[in-house]
Amino acid sequence: MVDRQRVVIVGGGFAGLYAGKKLEKLLPASTAELVIVSPTDHLTYSPLLPDVTASVLEPRHVAVSLRQSLPRHRLVVGHVTSVDVEAKTITISRGESDADPQVMSYDRLLLAPGSVTRRFPIPGVAESARGVKTITEAAFVRDHLVNQLDAADSLPDDPRFDAERAERMTVVAVGAGYTGTEIVAQTQRWLKRVADRWSKIDVDDVKWLLIDVAPAVLPELGPRLGQYALSAMKARGIDVRLGVSVASVEGNVINLTDDTAVPSRTLIWNAGIVANPLMGTLGLPLERGRLVVDAQMKVTDDVWAVGDAAAVPDLAKEKPADGPQPVTPPTAQHAQRQGTAVGQNIAASFGIGQAKDYVHKDLGLVADLGGLTAVAKPLGVELTGLPAKIVARGYHLFALPSMANRVRVLTDWALHAVLPPQAVALNQTRSEDALISTAQNTEIYPKAEDKPKVG
Ligand SMILES: Cc1cc2nc3c(=O)[nH]c(=O)nc-3n(C[C@H](O)[C@H](O)[C@H](O)COP(=O)(O)OP(=O)(O)OC[C@H]3O[C@@H](n4cnc5c(N)ncnc54)[C@H](O)[C@@H]3O)c2cc1C
Repeated sequence: MVDRQRVVIVGGGFAGLYAGKKLEKLLPASTAELVIVSPTDHLTYSPLLPDVTASVLEPRHVAVSLRQSLPRHRLVVGHVTSVDVEAKTITISRGESDADPQVMSYDRLLLAPGSVTRRFPIPGVAESARGVKTITEAAFVRDHLVNQLDAADSLPDDPRFDAERAERMTVVAVGAGYTGTEIVAQTQRWLKRVADRWSKIDVDDVKWLLIDVAPAVLPELGPRLGQYALSAMKARGIDVRLGVSVASVEGNVINLTDDTAVPSRTLIWNAGIVANPLMGTLGLPLERGRLVVDAQMKVTDDVWAVGDAAAVPDLAKEKPADGPQPVTPPTAQHAQRQGTAVGQNIAASFGIGQAKDYVHKDLGLVADLGGLTAVAKPLGVELTGLPAKIVARGYHLFALPSMANRVRVLTDWALHAVLPPQAVALNQTRSEDALISTAQNTEIYPKAEDKPKVG
């Protein structure tokens, strides 16, 4: 009997899950042992995290079980901290102080560990900014906002506490791309809807500041939809400042590059993403931090990479005469399809089917700004208001990779439409555990310079 070959997937997000599904379909159990390594036992449906921060969705309902979705895979819960492409092994850390790292060999390896929130070396940001990339962070931001207003409401009526009240009632959010805009627009609207929860403070007095170095909001959706979103946010009282960034954070003061100092205890950070730091430890070529792959998402004869962590050539776009082929944007839309396509290509390496180049023409993006305010650009058609909202929600229901999650999300949306919105803080996460570096485990990898280059 021929030994089964071991196929290992690193990362159980969009790319990893869809690759696993394809491999389960194509590879007979007698041919391959399937393993997936993931720090969590679920995929996070991140496009709906803004609904979690705005208390519309239960956090669990955007978590799609890997064990149920990939029954033929062995799930190893842990982080891959290094890959030896010559020895064909990975090292897995299980995050418990008494657990030794586990070394596992592979015959085929798919790297799909996604991305982490991009921070800049701005003084004070690492110690204070909150990302919204994981369920832990999204739920923390929701609770933190409720906690700040609870504390502001509890302060004595004494001018000595006015400064603290102002800090607690000011929210600064960095990044006006689709994630940052959705989070600010939805969360601000939610807090206004639950205003009667507080007896002394007026939620209308909460200052919301959305800043971005870019000259427009939602640049991904074009100027008209960006302008619509900007007007909708301004009408709700959100102060949107463009061409501005954070210069430093000192205690409870956020200094902006336009020389304003904003007293605040809340800094929500959505200034883009960078590929998972694991990619930088491999000693293989990178493009802006993403692992370079060919059009079939191959890195070496037995390693593939996809999703936010990989620079997959975007063959649906024309190559400029004076530059390289563009790479696919880091979206779930691409990650999911790259997962399916790479599953096929890995199966082809076993002689099952043909390997193909990855080609997908972008279907467009949606942004839900809360209530009936939304923007969407499906297949280049610009939509606003109710039609955009229907497209946005319809798309997410379709894209959620599990029927049970779809039903749970749909039920939450229906209940949210008819019941008074909820504003309770469960406070299940300690503040230090919700910092970007901890929640996203950005510091667990050996530094690139510590690792010898692979020849
Ligand atoms: C708030 C928010 C809203 C978004 N909205 C949209 C949207 O509307 N439309 C859209 O197309 N995209 C959207 N995106 C982007 C989209 O979520 C990503 O592009 C997509 O998740 C990338 O898929 P991936 O499989 O590459 O990575 P992920 O889905 O992030 O999966 C990576 C997986 O790898 C795991 N992992 C990390 N490190 C390791 C390690 N060392 N070892 C093993 N496993 C590891 C992670 O835990 C995770 O499970 C949004 C993202 C966010 C944060």
